Amino acid sequence: MTSRLPRRAEIVIIGGGIVGASIAYHLTQAGCKDVVVLERECVQGLGSTGRATGGIRSQFSHPLDIAMSLYSLDFIRHFKDETGVDPCYRPNGYIFLATTKAQTSDLKDLVALQQKSGLKEVRLVSREDIRELAPILNVDDVLGGTFCSSDGFIEPLYLLKGFTERAVARGSKVLLNTTATGIELAGSKITGVVTNQGTISTNIVINAAGAWAKKIAAMANVVLPVEPLRRHVAGTQPFPELPDETPMIIGLESGFHFRKDHHGGGGVMLLWNSHEEVYGENLEFDYDWLKKTLEFATHRVPKFERLQITPRRCWAGLYEMTPDAHPVLGKVSGIEGLYLANGFSGHGVMHSPATGKLLSELILDGRAKLMDISSLSFDRFASGKLFAEKGVL
Ligand SMILES: Cc1cc2nc3c(=O)[nH]c(=O)nc-3n(C[C@H](O)[C@H](O)[C@H](O)COP(=O)(O)OP(=O)(O)OC[C@H]3O[C@@H](n4cnc5c(N)ncnc54)[C@H](O)[C@@H]3O)c2cc1C
Repeated sequence: MTSRLPRRAEIVIIGGGIVGASIAYHLTQAGCKDVVVLERECVQGLGSTGRATGGIRSQFSHPLDIAMSLYSLDFIRHFKDETGVDPCYRPNGYIFLATTKAQTSDLKDLVALQQKSGLKEVRLVSREDIRELAPILNVDDVLGGTFCSSDGFIEPLYLLKGFTERAVARGSKVLLNTTATGIELAGSKITGVVTNQGTISTNIVINAAGAWAKKIAAMANVVLPVEPLRRHVAGTQPFPELPDETPMIIGLESGFHFRKDHHGGGGVMLLWNSHEEVYGENLEFDYDWLKKTLEFATHRVPKFERLQITPRRCWAGLYEMTPDAHPVLGKVSGIEGLYLANGFSGHGVMHSPATGKLLSELILDGRAKLMDISSLSFDRFASGKLFAEKGVL
């Protein structure tokens, strides 16, 4: 990766996480060589991408999210052939557990919608099916659930590496230690990006700054409702009693979920999103969160009483939340040359392939051909046309 700032670039991407890298990959794949990625850190992946656990699923409550997942999953299956980097896709599946009649009925509707949207591998499962799929679980209070066998896990940093290496091989530049500090405008037209290393003149800027996207948008006088929100992960010492093929298990009532940590020594990753969390850039690991999470964990898996929490495998990172937990993709009316790829609300790794393709089409072809993303436009915040995603984990 280079660190010399060019004086001019056709396209400047602010943010060298997985979203910026995927956009650079797709733009260069489509033949655009003059793409510069600005990353303020000394290496890529120090934002949310390197803190993500790598879940990929198609079990969503809106057809657009399902379409983004299906495209991305197919892309990930071919990722090694395209980039030479194995993203370590493991189709362990995801099981959503229902413990109330209302949840069971919601899941029934969801499965019908998901199947109608082209997701073939999802099905309703009974308590007995769940016991068979994950014998370690306490299912005494479980009424049923869903299972999708193509959901699973990938390694976010390998995806980031593959995207970046191919983009760079095709002419893109990734400038590390380069912080965007301002956006230059002539009237309503983008003319450049100011950085701590100097100014690049350009007419196209893509905001791919993850949880910090609001600050980048403000540089162009745009008020972007994307807020950082802390999320915790607790990791453990190796726990061989949890079989490698165990699906991700998600309890709908509490939102507690867990999975095997295949690349972290064979322990368990415990996850739960507290509703008491408030927006902000706090990355401190909160041991009160751990206490509550362990209560959920030992209820669902009594053997987890024997888990050894490993402080060096416990961390917090930032989600990038929009008011409806859907991303904001595309142009900003009134600002010529500014594109947004923000607000993934915790799904940015799994949806990065589709996002890169869509942004590349929007910029180079003038419209997104892969799917209709008009409902993800920036304008929805002003018009109030929000559409909430129920399945934020
Ligand atoms: C604990 C946790 C678990 C998660 N699990 C999953 C999961 O299982 N599956 C999934 O799909 N998603 C998951 N996510 C969400 C996922 O990590 C994000 O949606 C995704 O990484 C967003 O990618 P990004 O490239 O937009 O942001 P980032 O990876 O944060 O990249 C943005 C980059 O912009 C840089 N930047 C910011 N400001 C500037 C500036 N002024 N100048 C230059 N550079 C700048 C930052 O340094 C950063 O590197 C998880 C997130 C967390 C925190």
